[in-house]
Amino acid sequence: MLNRFPPRRQCYICRRRFRRFYPYRDGMKSITPFLLKLGVVGSDVINFGCPFCHSSDRERHLFLYFDRLRLWDGVRDAAVLHFAPEPHLSWRIKSCGPRQYVTADLYPDHLHARDHAVERQDVTDIAAPADTFDLLICNHVLEHVTDDRRALSEVHRVLKPGGLAVLQTPYSTVLTRSIEDPGIATDRLRLEVYGQEDHVRLYGADFLDRIQAVGLRLRLRRHRDVSTDAEAAYYGMNPVEDLILVEKPTIPRGPYAS
Ligand SMILES: [Zn+2]
Repeated sequence: MLNRFPPRRQCYICRRRFRRFYPYRDGMKSITPFLLKLGVVGSDVINFGCPFCHSSDRERHLFLYFDRLRLWDGVRDAAVLHFAPEPHLSWRIKSCGPRQYVTADLYPDHLHARDHAVERQDVTDIAAPADTFDLLICNHVLEHVTDDRRALSEVHRVLKPGGLAVLQTPYSTVLTRSIEDPGIATDRLRLEVYGQEDHVRLYGADFLDRIQAVGLRLRLRRHRDVSTDAEAAYYGMNPVEDLILVEKPTIPRGPYAS
């Protein structure tokens, strides 16, 4: 007998099938008209949470990127630093057998870490020697950090030459310069202009300049390079959210570099 209501969605992480993901807050209503006009790329607010494992769209999307770009292979025997660690991603990283795996957050008590300790770490002052990590994951963190240039410098410092970092953040496809104004100081204004009460800016195209200014090299990958829009809809991912992947160059760029 035919199923009259076949599942139309599948969670990329737990592989359960169902009819729909649950939305972020009020779905599309949680994106203010201001942010809509600015073409903000961030979470898929409609196809957001998995009803079974509660993964978010951006966590599922990282799994897909890591699969398609074979990034898990590099985790084996690697030193990994993971800020604001997502539970499924943590589990998957550990299953790869990293040599060192540090999970960190500015407010670790707010996280419901299940089976590992999350260190208290400030991304603008990372307690680790230079050239320590092969992989650093900083997924939707920088939009919360007041001194993001210092955070990016720290990312560069603690990465080994040739090491990679994932630096996902919401951004506007319209703005050339990020909006960050000390006058935007109330929850209501931050929600209206930045998209969330605890964000301190809305990035524009200059985010990429800030990354490169500290010496990191961009290795951006687009969803459409590794997947399709149909697959994004099926798995509940935002097809216009690129993977903001960066690398610490093995040879520092000097004044005479081409
Ligand atoms: Zn799931």
